[in-house]
Amino acid sequence: MYLLKIYLQAPVDVPVLSDKFWYLTKDRTFALPCPFNNRGNYVISLSQLTRWMGVKAEELGVEIYPGFAAGEVLYDSNDNVVGVGTNDMGISKDGSKKETFQHGVELKGKLTLLAEGCRGSLSEKIISKYNLRGKVQAQHQTYALGIKEVWEIDESKHEPGAVLHTLGWPLDHKTYGGSFVYHMKDRQVSIGLVIALNYQNPYLNPYEEFQKFKHHPAIKSLLEGGTVIQYGARTLNEGGFQSIPYPVFPGGAIVGCSAGFLNVPKIKGTHTAMKSGMLAAEAAFSVLSEGSSMVVYYDFLRKSWIWEELKKARNYRPVAKLHTPIEYPRADGILSFDVPTSLHRSNTNHEHDQPAHLQLRDPTIPELVNLPEYAGPESRYCPARVYEYVPDENGVLKLQINAQNCLHCKACDIKDPQQNIEWTVPEGGGGPGYSVM
Ligand SMILES: Cc1cc2nc3c(=O)[nH]c(=O)nc-3n(C[C@H](O)[C@H](O)[C@H](O)COP(=O)(O)OP(=O)(O)OC[C@H]3O[C@@H](n4cnc5c(N)ncnc54)[C@H](O)[C@@H]3O)c2cc1C
Ligand code: SF4
Repeated sequence: MYLLKIYLQAPVDVPVLSDKFWYLTKDRTFALPCPFNNRGNYVISLSQLTRWMGVKAEELGVEIYPGFAAGEVLYDSNDNVVGVGTNDMGISKDGSKKETFQHGVELKGKLTLLAEGCRGSLSEKIISKYNLRGKVQAQHQTYALGIKEVWEIDESKHEPGAVLHTLGWPLDHKTYGGSFVYHMKDRQVSIGLVIALNYQNPYLNPYEEFQKFKHHPAIKSLLEGGTVIQYGARTLNEGGFQSIPYPVFPGGAIVGCSAGFLNVPKIKGTHTAMKSGMLAAEAAFSVLSEGSSMVVYYDFLRKSWIWEELKKARNYRPVAKLHTPIEYPRADGILSFDVPTSLHRSNTNHEHDQPAHLQLRDPTIPELVNLPEYAGPESRYCPARVYEYVPDENGVLKLQINAQNCLHCKACDIKDPQQNIEWTVPEGGGGPGYSVM
């Protein structure tokens, strides 16, 4: 009864009422039989739901520290994970301590559950340290980048609960990806384009592809007269069932998208993230109360609908290959926008005077390899224009990293041709400030 009362208050109130699937050419739209069945699902704002859940969890006694990022994994002398450490705060760009300096804190527990989302920094370290992929012969993970906006549109065009997915234009037939358009409540529409990060043409610019997409006649007519209220970007797992690592390590477990529990063809992972969290909690309970092992989490997962659903969705996707320069149209400021305008709408905020959280393993690679061989792809795949090649006093192009703009999408950690960029957590609390995404 208590749970039902809570559930009824949750910001989950727009049921899916229609489900369309289109193939787009530059000017035309072809309706296809919809391969998804979203009836019974709801169109929601995840940031609003998690904020609401956070309050409920605190009411139940859970302590939440939103202003602190976990920067390192803590181990005991037997290499068991015993918790996480937060970064030191108040360090300036040059590495000196500011007046506000505070040591990071160690958060230790009998069990540590990692839920960092796609390409979690600590989760990836743990997967590699304990060879969690090798343990179950999992394939390496693959990724896509999703660029998204929330629009407020004209009342007459708004259909709460309407869901549309498209394939085709603006992506060519060798580039894997597609769009989504979800009508939320209050005249809001969530619209986005997802592009597999294994695209081969270094000239492709996911941000610009998304800007272009909004100019398709069928999409333009929906958005015209509306305004953008938020912008954001994030990577998502694409490897599916075959890429799920063994999700248990000595001292804890991995849940949600950090373990790759995303239904790839549906681009849905909220339900599997939540369910995996619930199963990990049940396993943790049995460890703490009965002294069993977290291995039961893996058993629970394999017996759950997560396994059945993800197994059915395996072997879904083809591979892209293309190498021609692309000229993108200028933003018109009505449907399409330049990056600084979009960035402003993401509410991204980082303390400026701190060491860059984006580190180059070898600082010479951008100019020696990325620029001459790949035409500097980081200046295009980053949806926040963090990476810019700017001429120095001799007119030689040098990579400049505007780390304060970072949207934490993790694309650079994945897409850099030489795997030269290491994404570390910035000072706690920094990052995008989504409120309706
Ligand atoms: C464009 C796009 C559209 C999508 N559409 C849908 C959809 O319609 N339906 C659906 O079900 N799913 C959708 N998904 C997938 C869905 O967002 C994810 O599957 C889901 O959010 C995964 O939940 P999670 O808790 O594992 O990770 P996340 O939701 O990513 O949450 C992880 C949280 O941990 C924080 N974090 C990460 N590292 C640290 C650290 N070291 N210290 C402290 N905090 C940290 C992050 O900031 C984040 O708040 C979409 C994804 C994208 C990118
Ligand atoms: S710097 Fe990396 S993580 Fe940040 S927005 Fe750009 S691509 Fe994404």
